[in-house]
Amino acid sequence: MKPVILVTNDDGIHSEGLESLAAALAAVGEVTVVAPDRERSAVSHALTLHRPLRINRLREGWYAVEGTPTDCVYLATRSLLKGRRPALVASGINKGSNLGDDIHYSGTVSAAFEGTVLGIPSIAVSVIGRGPWHFETAAAFVARLAQRVLDEKLPGDTLLNVNVPNVAPSEITGVAITKMGKRHYGDAVIENVDPRGRKYYWIRGTELDAEDIPGSDCNAVLENKISLTPLHLDLTNVAAMERLAGWKLS
Ligand code: MN
Repeated sequence: MKPVILVTNDDGIHSEGLESLAAALAAVGEVTVVAPDRERSAVSHALTLHRPLRINRLREGWYAVEGTPTDCVYLATRSLLKGRRPALVASGINKGSNLGDDIHYSGTVSAAFEGTVLGIPSIAVSVIGRGPWHFETAAAFVARLAQRVLDEKLPGDTLLNVNVPNVAPSEITGVAITKMGKRHYGDAVIENVDPRGRKYYWIRGTELDAEDIPGSDCNAVLENKISLTPLHLDLTNVAAMERLAGWKLS
């Protein structure tokens, strides 16, 4: 029997990136798509608790949820796919990178985190930069990677965050196993006045540059390498525990 693969994203059910991820993974398993009904980028790991959620079946195996990427994985695994536990959760292909600090805001990566919380091997996939998009490069790589993940499994509490340069497959120079880098955002907030004279603020979220950190995700994609970062659910800073113990708080 083919493994069940749950596909989601944060760009919404109508994103071409989702379409190409689902198509690529159809070669690896039985794909069910459960994705937000509209773009929900940068909602991080939000779960909707204070209103009911509706699921609309758009076509065979495609479901739109009036909620966040995490809602999608939550509802799919606990309700929609009940009795058919996914062997893999794949999120993306996101339009734009999820490198370094982006990960904390990312709906794409959070959907994969939610799969990991449930003990399901999970991957998040993003393409760097702006359109027009070379989704075919990321899609081909993810199909290969997904097969490996299904065969080899992943270490406990670990997901894979994949960032793919927005170039044709022939221009990719390799695959780098990386750590999270650091990015800087320029004039982060735009202040302006609305037609009724009231001030408003608009968070830009456009990056200025990345710190040059050897071995980081940011460095790898600058060299046209596909970046593969294993992320851990446990965010504990173990070295800091010892230091805090030295504070003698008790
Ligand atoms: Mn997005």
